[in-house]
Amino acid sequence: MKCSSCNKSSWDVRPSRLFKSVVCNECHMSRLKLKDPDLHSVIIEQRRQHIKQSRQTLNLTQVQLAPLLGVSVKSIKNYEQGIREPSKSVLILLEQLVKAESKRGGQ
Ligand SMILES: [Zn+2]
Repeated sequence: MKCSSCNKSSWDVRPSRLFKSVVCNECHMSRLKLKDPDLHSVIIEQRRQHIKQSRQTLNLTQVQLAPLLGVSVKSIKNYEQGIREPSKSVLILLEQLVKAESKRGGQ
């Protein structure tokens, strides 16, 4: 699918009420930041917490988690500080790790 705003091809393209058309997550979030900075920061904060909580569920340090997600330690730090947003593939990988861990942990 193609983003109707930046024209980039991405599989992370979906309908956005802000654009009234289909756009990529990047465009959606940057428009949201302009239109509703409060809501934008709430979403960023939720994502930040999600990364951190997932890592704590896995009982891993940032240094241990980084290679499992195929990113640098600095990236993990940035995610948890809300400086950078993890890509969809990183989030999916993290989700799989958490699922595998809860299976191991649960009887
Ligand atoms: Zn776009």
